[in-house]
Amino acid sequence: MATRSLLADAASRAATYLEGLPSRSVAPSADAVAALSQFDRPLPKHPIDATAVLRQLDEIGSPGTGASAGGRYFGFVIGATLPAALAANMLASAWDQNAGLVVISPTTAKLETVALRWLLDALHLPATCAAGFVTGATMANFTCLAAARHSLLARAGWDVEEQGLFGAPQLNVVVGEEVHVTALKALALLGLGRARVTHVPTDAQGRMRADKLPPLDDRTILLLQAGNVNTGAFDPMAEIIPKARAAGAWVHVDGAFGLWAAATPSRAALIAGVDDADSWALDAHKWLNVPYDSGVAICRDRDALRGATAVSAAYLVQGAEREPCEYVPELSRRARGVDIWAALSALGRSGIAEMIERNCRQAARFADGLRDAGYEILAEVVLNQVLVSFGDDETTRRVIAGIQSDGTCWCGGTVWHGRTAMRISVSSWATTDEDVELSLAAMLRVASEVLATR
Ligand SMILES: *Cc1c(COP(=O)(O)O)cnc(C)c1O
Repeated sequence: MATRSLLADAASRAATYLEGLPSRSVAPSADAVAALSQFDRPLPKHPIDATAVLRQLDEIGSPGTGASAGGRYFGFVIGATLPAALAANMLASAWDQNAGLVVISPTTAKLETVALRWLLDALHLPATCAAGFVTGATMANFTCLAAARHSLLARAGWDVEEQGLFGAPQLNVVVGEEVHVTALKALALLGLGRARVTHVPTDAQGRMRADKLPPLDDRTILLLQAGNVNTGAFDPMAEIIPKARAAGAWVHVDGAFGLWAAATPSRAALIAGVDDADSWALDAHKWLNVPYDSGVAICRDRDALRGATAVSAAYLVQGAEREPCEYVPELSRRARGVDIWAALSALGRSGIAEMIERNCRQAARFADGLRDAGYEILAEVVLNQVLVSFGDDETTRRVIAGIQSDGTCWCGGTVWHGRTAMRISVSSWATTDEDVELSLAAMLRVASEVLATR
């Protein structure tokens, strides 16, 4: 069985890769990146044996990756992959199911339905919500905002899917100053425009100021954020959402990673009231630690979501069951619900809470350790995000570069309220307390080396 030994080889190489992560540099070495030029070959004239293809991929490709699947990657907001989710993903790749229609894949349709029910349960969102399994929070924002556009314009007597936006009643979009760029991109893709939005000022932590909200009405989409990408801060949901909905506005929450706070008793207060919104964008490849790509567009009003995304054609069999393709922009797609189902199965309610909780505690430990060493923490650490300055902007930039090339861990930079900062995002199931201590020690060592040369 050539296929059996090929897959065994792939599984073995994958395991070797993962086992090697703790002892390798988190950033790929310059040599490993330079060696990627070995991929620059012409299209092979003739077939190459699959074992040799896999060997090339591993020998040239594996060293050139960033070790984001390990426990010491703190850049952006990047989850790793839980073993159960990885293994499920590998099996589901063998199934090669088109997850768009029940008739093509009863198993993946069933798992998607169950995964959705469990997600709503874990996040304390209404059990009757509809949702689509998309590539990430960008497309979750897009899909939810398409539902919002559908719903508000339908109420105004306009069928936007049929008529388009030319000549349609005006919709207003209200966002916070700290809105994520991908939410603006979604507005751009939907014809709602990046620039024709009203910006609401935010406070020192990046939270929307409820006292600065403009008047809202039933032609308004209000975009809130649960988990600021720099500070982890939450817009004041309980204060804003009831007022906005009473005015008839559609409230969408970008909760890419912050929505998981709802699944953890110690953090749930941060996000209280979020369940009153109309729609929510969630990432699974961030804090749920499933393989890329995976996000969920959750919507209170099933008809609004289906109105924006459903298709009909005679050959697309319509049964009584939930048709997965009716809730997402795509028709054919991979079975993302399988990985999510596996992650939720393996963690259970307590495991999800423990993972979120642990990462939050680890973020606080980073902040304490850096603060104790005399460095400035620029925002309150409420979740899993830390912003630290090592002095002036140039010094901070040099420390970040030094930490990246040291290789013990990886952190990126940002500018927060005019100041250059290093971002630490703790979002990986694989991060142990020992990883945190090793990384903290490396950060402090590099920072004192940089400061000594000034
Ligand atoms: C990461 C993130 C996004 C974009 O998510 P993708 O999964 O990269 O598409 C949107 N909003 C927030 C708040 C995020 O953190």
